[in-house]
Amino acid sequence: MRRCFVSCLLFLFPFCLGSAAHASPPPPVSVSLVKEDVWADRTVREESRGVEITLTFGDECVVIHEDSLSFPEGRLVARDVSPDQLYLVRDLRPMVRRKGYDSLYSHGGFQLAVVKDPAGLTRVKRVSLRPVTGSVVVLERSKVQRLEPNPKVERLLRMLDSAHYEQCLSALAEDQPTRYACSDGELDAKNKIKRLFLELGLETEVMAFKNVCGRTCQKVGGYNVIGIKRGSLRPNEYYLVGAHYDSTSGMPCRMAPGANDNASGTAGVMELARLFSRVETEASLIFVAFSGEEYNQLGSRKYVRRLLNSGLDEKLKAFVVLDMISYYKRNYGIIVEGSNGTTAQKAMVARLARLGRTYTDLAVETTYDYYGSDHEPFLDRGMAGALLIETDWDRYDYYHTRRDKMVYQDIPYAMEALKLAAALLAEGGIIFPADR
Ligand SMILES: [Zn+2]
Repeated sequence: MRRCFVSCLLFLFPFCLGSAAHASPPPPVSVSLVKEDVWADRTVREESRGVEITLTFGDECVVIHEDSLSFPEGRLVARDVSPDQLYLVRDLRPMVRRKGYDSLYSHGGFQLAVVKDPAGLTRVKRVSLRPVTGSVVVLERSKVQRLEPNPKVERLLRMLDSAHYEQCLSALAEDQPTRYACSDGELDAKNKIKRLFLELGLETEVMAFKNVCGRTCQKVGGYNVIGIKRGSLRPNEYYLVGAHYDSTSGMPCRMAPGANDNASGTAGVMELARLFSRVETEASLIFVAFSGEEYNQLGSRKYVRRLLNSGLDEKLKAFVVLDMISYYKRNYGIIVEGSNGTTAQKAMVARLARLGRTYTDLAVETTYDYYGSDHEPFLDRGMAGALLIETDWDRYDYYHTRRDKMVYQDIPYAMEALKLAAALLAEGGIIFPADR
């Protein structure tokens, strides 16, 4: 997959070189879409002088090239574009509110867009952008070797219960109209999760924090729900799975079912808690439902601060955050979004990709470019882990709207995504009772 990247480094970047020397604007460019395997073909590359930049998104390459060039096996996306207006945009606003740029291509939550007023867009909340200055692999399609599956892990994965998952999803997304962080619905969801953790025999704690309530809701506090299962052989080693249970929409106090975002991930944490409470584990497992994610990851930031203060971050072997895992449209896949900050973080992204290839049918894509969910505070502070998110999340029309309902969720797909998180926890160490 790095081939796109490497091949493009062979070309010069006249726009960049020329910009300092001349005041005149860079010549316009075209943008084409070429399949990665076609692009990797040597003859295509050799005919491609005049290509300035290639951006790789999974199995597709976006090629930015001279207007005069064309690719018979590619698809022209745009012509006559000013190269200094090209940006990679990540936008967490609902579809209808996505303004301030013209999107040319999108995949996995990344958009290649023409931005005419970058300074203005930078000031917009829930949007991140950076200029396209050179070739880069934005999302890498994992081609790691599928390993021989561990029978113990396979056996555990067969114990995942889709009926229980669906029941949890419904309890969160259908029993109350909203789980907005400042509403009574948040309290209701918090109580449900707490009740389950207690029933499962987990060491259960509700961690309260102050919410930032800008709306005219009930203005209740924020609550993370934490459940711990102690390991029997290595209790001081921890594996964590977390998801935010708060939701949002255009009218969040009254209606924000948040089935996909993020009852899907929270129900995942609840089902994993059920699953792992039934087996003995060598290492300790932490299950966390965060609130306040839609307020700049308020809950997870508080939680991470506590990990650091108690030194638990040093004992955390891996974490995984589930955020939006129950929808697919075009790509039956999952994105593992980690960090390139440390060797351990990089290794964890690779490990999750390998687990995905070994234990699931999902097309796994990885990225080191992380943004906008509860994985941020963990990765910022050097812990190893990743966000798991459906590849097509930005094709989901009801994202952050009051129509993000249960009916649009795909339970079998979600169970496949859950297998990946379960495999990571299971690799951390499980012991099966002899006859269970
Ligand atoms: Zn979310």
